[in-house]
Amino acid sequence: MAVRVRFAPSPTGFLHVGGARTALFNWLFARREGGTFLLRVEDTDRARSRPEHTQAILDGLAWLGLDVDEGPVFQADGVERHRRDALRLLGQGAAYRCFCTAAELAARREEAKRAGAGYGYDGRCGRLDAAAADARAAAGEPFALRVRVPGEAIGWEDMIHGPMSFPAGSIDDFIVLRSDGTPVYNLAVVSDDAEAAITHVIRGDDHLSNTPKQILLYRAFGRPLPRFGHVPLILGPDGKRLSKRHGALSVLAYRDEGYLPEGMVNFLALLGWSPGDDHEVFDVGGLIEAFSIGRVLKKSAVFDLEKLGWLNGRHIADSPPAGLAGAVLEILAREAVQEGRSLAETHPELETSPERLARIIDLVKGRPRTLPALARQVSPFFAATLSYDDDAVKRFWKRPQETARHLRRLAERLAGEVAFRDVETLEIEVRGLAAELEVGAGRVINPLRVALMGQGVRPGIFEVLEAMGRERALARIRAAAGFLDARVPAA
Ligand code: GLU
Repeated sequence: MAVRVRFAPSPTGFLHVGGARTALFNWLFARREGGTFLLRVEDTDRARSRPEHTQAILDGLAWLGLDVDEGPVFQADGVERHRRDALRLLGQGAAYRCFCTAAELAARREEAKRAGAGYGYDGRCGRLDAAAADARAAAGEPFALRVRVPGEAIGWEDMIHGPMSFPAGSIDDFIVLRSDGTPVYNLAVVSDDAEAAITHVIRGDDHLSNTPKQILLYRAFGRPLPRFGHVPLILGPDGKRLSKRHGALSVLAYRDEGYLPEGMVNFLALLGWSPGDDHEVFDVGGLIEAFSIGRVLKKSAVFDLEKLGWLNGRHIADSPPAGLAGAVLEILAREAVQEGRSLAETHPELETSPERLARIIDLVKGRPRTLPALARQVSPFFAATLSYDDDAVKRFWKRPQETARHLRRLAERLAGEVAFRDVETLEIEVRGLAAELEVGAGRVINPLRVALMGQGVRPGIFEVLEAMGRERALARIRAAAGFLDARVPAA
């Protein structure tokens, strides 16, 4: 049987981390099984559903690369079918008319509360004489439709939780069609899933209590049951339910902060799923191959931004430089505009030397965890002027006079024709100077890094020198010495 799964978000907000993970698990399952992935927008809550939310969900899925095979279909478009299905249940005796008014139900609930008892509908309208009920309906008395719940346990074999069972009596006769003619959620979902021939329902744990009701509806409709799999909650590192305090909840916020979709997909996949070994860095193809719904853990997953950063860094490191160049250009251009300048002014040659840009991205991409961090490391190689990071200055330029002197000596030494021949020669020259000065190599290398990059970050300094090129590197070293002169306290 061909696998058909669906992601069924309600368009009441952005695509959040939990929804995106549900979508991803469905999508991975479909791709792994050669199945079909549907998108159904559950927009029956008219007051809270908005087209811009639907768009945000589509944008989020598109950014993550979760392509939809069928849909989006809109649940509200199916309302006539939902109603028809509810009436069919009445026709076949699986549902009955309930004439209890909202006020009566509220009073009974209140009474149960006072008595300290749990409330469930007592089934009284289900015991009405059929002819009498017909007559009341014909006379125009409003009624809701309730499903007759059999007095037996309802269970299923959950793909994630294993055997699940709701004991007899734990579910009361529930409404499927309200007295105003609107179908309720559980009916709409079953009607839509059956219509779309969904074979596997993979969704959040918060729907566990809906599943027995939905199973009853499948049975009443005489439709084959899908398999169900309920994905555990996501918690923050403090063990509390995931909230804004733990980081952005909208998936697209991570795009805007400079995470790669590959990093985000990898991170989401590991929220509750593990391949069973210690392998953590996956590209999408690897995930499709390794994913198994049976390996989704029963216990809640922990949302750890540190892990996202680390994984994203691995994906940046694995990306071809050409794929990262566009983002770097965009970020630096945006910053230039914020300063009222153009990219050509702040970073001459950045746009016009794609090969050099690619080479530099290749050099620095091993460490940054986000695209803005990558751009920060590319920037010094092209920047017209360099500003020095305060922390780096404090840490590595503690002795301005001595450092200025070392930097000048270094500039002299590197000014010769041969020094920039290759990385090895540069290393020999820099280490040679440290030996001559009788200081550890770090005393020259660390201040030099700040002079060249403005920061204390660490791509290999000799590679940095080489990639920067003779002219720019010498100018930077001399400028740093000048800057340090100005910091030497007057005698
Ligand atoms: N619309 C529901 C939600 O957003 C999902 C329903 C389902 O997957 O069955 O939680």
